[in-house]
Amino acid sequence: MSDPKTLAAPVAPGGTVGILGGGQLGRMLALAAARLGLKTHIYCDDAEAPAFHVSAAHTVAKFEDKDALAAFAKACDVVTLEFENVPAGSVEHVAQFVPAYPGARALRITQDRFDEKSFVQSIGLTTPRFVAIDTAADAAGWLKDFGGRGVLKTRRFGYDGKGQAKPKSADEAKAAFENFKGAPSILEAFIDFDFEASVIAARGRDGSFAAYDPPENHHENHILRRSTVPGRLTPAQGDAAKAIARKIATALDYTGVFAVELFVLKDGSLLVNEIAPRVHNSGHWTIEACAVSQFEQHIRAVCGWPLGDPARHCDAVMTNIIGEEANAWETYAKRPGGLHLYGKLEARPGRKMGHFTDVSPLTKA
Ligand code: AMP
Repeated sequence: MSDPKTLAAPVAPGGTVGILGGGQLGRMLALAAARLGLKTHIYCDDAEAPAFHVSAAHTVAKFEDKDALAAFAKACDVVTLEFENVPAGSVEHVAQFVPAYPGARALRITQDRFDEKSFVQSIGLTTPRFVAIDTAADAAGWLKDFGGRGVLKTRRFGYDGKGQAKPKSADEAKAAFENFKGAPSILEAFIDFDFEASVIAARGRDGSFAAYDPPENHHENHILRRSTVPGRLTPAQGDAAKAIARKIATALDYTGVFAVELFVLKDGSLLVNEIAPRVHNSGHWTIEACAVSQFEQHIRAVCGWPLGDPARHCDAVMTNIIGEEANAWETYAKRPGGLHLYGKLEARPGRKMGHFTDVSPLTKA
């Protein structure tokens, strides 16, 4: 039998794309796959996963369940993922049976903030200064070294501000580390950035590359509230952001869509905050503003299809609909623009329930 990882034939229409994870990103990937005549099979440990509603098949099982993973892999022509905390070993297991993108290496690096930032620096890109923190005494000591201000983050499993604190004194740093229950962490320099941005890009199986225009991102309570494109990035900063993405994708030998979150400093320079090895919330506007959205682009990339044109044909502002805001769905439905609701039953505070994209004529390319 040939090694499935080296199979070069594209997945033809009628084929099945397996997706590890069943949230809204999986749901929008499944919708995009359907448009290309592909089926999806969602694998998730949550029996209520929103992506199940729009997929041909699904499996409810733990991400560590080797037998369920094998059966799932054998039912698919290619496997991908929609959240980065899928155990890298599970992706390796799946890859024994069917091509899996992005691969376990990209996942391993990006799952650990220390490894991720070390990798980014190793390829000549700039991140905030950071150190590994393994004890409360480290946290307190290094905070002083960082000038009394920093951001403490757990190395693994942080998202939307979870596993994150901004201590302003040695005592606060110590308490924050203890609050993380001693989980291995990093301390980063606190960056007084001008604004935040991200770049969403794709790399094909053949090494082809395509990047969308980088949006400016605005967060509230650690959660993305709004992505605006064009934002305040200058054309030169936009090009620099795309070049950063290309460098990362090449070094990871990456296949699929990914995002690089950036801090834009007052001097105009860009710092890499983190890499998301998947489609990204700050790329949702591509559904309305580009002929090929980030979701279709990802499906194209992992299926070995040509990448689509990432050009933007209008301006866009994407706003997340969070928690009980989703109860106002009728108000949103009256507004011109694109309404997306994720089919989640319970509107818990802070939960991403949907998003809305306002579009307007292209002002600058
Ligand atoms: P993260 O989970 O690393 O993406 O961080 C979530 C948010 O916290 C970022 O989008 C920033 O708004 C803020 N943040 C993270 N790291 C830093 C930093 N080193 N300095 C200042 N703000 C930060």
